[in-house]
Amino acid sequence: MSEILSFHNDEAGYDSWCRLHGHDGYVLTKSGRDWTLHNATCQAITEAGDGKLNTSSPKLCSTDRARLVPEARERSGGRMPIQSCGQCGS
Ligand SMILES: [Zn+2]
Repeated sequence: MSEILSFHNDEAGYDSWCRLHGHDGYVLTKSGRDWTLHNATCQAITEAGDGKLNTSSPKLCSTDRARLVPEARERSGGRMPIQSCGQCGS
């Protein structure tokens, strides 16, 4: 089963998901009008920096990449572009 979870200002929830699915998960991050798709291990999303929350911007997480992308499109009214990450290439 591959549910889609969303984390926003929920570091504890996001951390525990990453511990469970760091090896097989995908994460969509929202920045402005764009979503970016990452591997759960991508450094761009695991290193938030000093005093900054990883979930200060919304994240959508799933182990099923094929479901994650359409879900993000639906939540954003079907028009939001989905970018590939330049670091992990997901
Ligand atoms: Zn990435």
